[in-house]
Amino acid sequence: MLQAETEKKVLLEVQGLKKYFPVKGLGMFGGTQQYVKAVDDVSFTLYEGETFGLVGESGCGKSTTGRTIMRLTEPTEGKAVYRNVDIFGQSGKQLRKTREEIQMVFQDPYSSLNPRKRIGSTLQEPLIVHKLGQRKDHTERVMDIMQKVGLQLDHFYRFPHEFSGGQRQRIGLARALIANPKLIICDEPVSALDVSIQSQIVNLLQRMQKEFNLTYLFIAHDISVVRHISDRIGVMYLGKMVETAPTDNLIGKPLHPYTQALLSAVPMPNPRIKRERITLKGEIPSPLNPPSGCVFHTRCPFVMDKCKTVQPLNKEVGQDHFVACHLYD
Ligand code: SF4
Repeated sequence: MLQAETEKKVLLEVQGLKKYFPVKGLGMFGGTQQYVKAVDDVSFTLYEGETFGLVGESGCGKSTTGRTIMRLTEPTEGKAVYRNVDIFGQSGKQLRKTREEIQMVFQDPYSSLNPRKRIGSTLQEPLIVHKLGQRKDHTERVMDIMQKVGLQLDHFYRFPHEFSGGQRQRIGLARALIANPKLIICDEPVSALDVSIQSQIVNLLQRMQKEFNLTYLFIAHDISVVRHISDRIGVMYLGKMVETAPTDNLIGKPLHPYTQALLSAVPMPNPRIKRERITLKGEIPSPLNPPSGCVFHTRCPFVMDKCKTVQPLNKEVGQDHFVACHLYD
């Protein structure tokens, strides 16, 4: 969990991040170039030791945000300043060093595991790539991490198909931890798991965070999972960040109509507290042709004329509580 407010130290600052994917123009001759605006001017800060949750419906751009920070896909515009250096300006050795310190855990670790390689060799790979420690010590290091994430030592010699979903996610976390990172981007790490296994993995992530002093960017579509693990939460809709706040504030007093709708669908731990269910009308518009003004205006129950033409700015409306909505102008 986050240190005292006064000790907060910035680890990563994402500024005005845009990721547009070009699509082939329509029409007989290709037409004009069009873009899917997957991430459109997103900014947020990660403080050392905290978990920042990024939440929103699928297709809102949260995973693309994580992947772009890692340079798995190149940004269109913006900065990702990690320990005072812009990752997007790095290459070669510098970028490799940053990638050693920032690791990623994926939703489906199976697809990123080589089916023909034993887990022990897969887990040694980051040590070899980043030239960490001596070769003779690698096995010991791998076995130590395997034990920490709840794997057994004989798993070292097994192949990926011999593991359950929960065990594979433990392997994914072990592979991220092995290089001794500072920041882990967890991209939907529990979405593919049964609910009972989900809480085991969330608890494991929390234990590892304490033990290794980690910072997490935790990406998920399920706000009930995100609220459990996050110190602060950012809510994304159609490529935009619409609200950011400390978890208690966001859950206790959501301000953006989209956040209110997301939370209204989550069962409350106290059955005496009832939230009125807000059902959003219509589908999420296409990021190829997002609505003008506020991107949420086609589904917002509080839409005003202004919302259709003027894009709301992200404003601080309470301590560390930001919202992009004309209701708070
Ligand atoms: Fe709704 Fe307007 Fe606020 Fe957008 S700016 S969320 S349309 S009230």
